[in-house]
Amino acid sequence: MSDYKIETRSERDTVQFAEELALLLKPGDVITLEGDLGAGKTTFTKGLANGLGVKRTVNSPTFTIIKEYHGELPLYHMDVYRLEDSDEDIGFDEYFNGDGICVVEWAHFIRDYLPAEYLMIKIAYVDEHTRLLELFPKGGHFKSVAADVIG
Ligand code: ADP
Ligand code: MG
Repeated sequence: MSDYKIETRSERDTVQFAEELALLLKPGDVITLEGDLGAGKTTFTKGLANGLGVKRTVNSPTFTIIKEYHGELPLYHMDVYRLEDSDEDIGFDEYFNGDGICVVEWAHFIRDYLPAEYLMIKIAYVDEHTRLLELFPKGGHFKSVAADVIG
């Protein structure tokens, strides 16, 4: 259980929450998203992109692993589901230490490559329109981001 959690009642709600969170991020920040298929990971990323001023439509990068968008900051959207059980390193360090925001769907598949500090968000299906979002901040910066966006 997390100290920082919120229930969203619609897709729009989740997008709005992510938009607000985006405004608290700084270059080099990494957000990891966990949750079953259909939980809302990509929906959340769309909100994050809106919040960063990305104009292009964000779609799931499942077949490309990484998609890059440009808003106020670069946004690197990764879906590493396909890397399950492979140790493949596709240059994560450069993304994680770069000047953009990284969002990683299914991040536990690349656990060994994650930086020391990041914000893990678990999204769970409650019912058709409701999702539970739990924030697990790693490090002081993300703790204050979580407190700000939930508070
Ligand atoms: P994932 O990337 O986790 O597989 P998606 O974001 O692609 O999931 O899909 C989430 C689906 O759940 C969308 O069809 C969306 O409309 C629906 N949905 C219903 N309620 C919510 C909610 N509260 N938050 C996010 N998505 C929701
Ligand atoms: Mg997805």
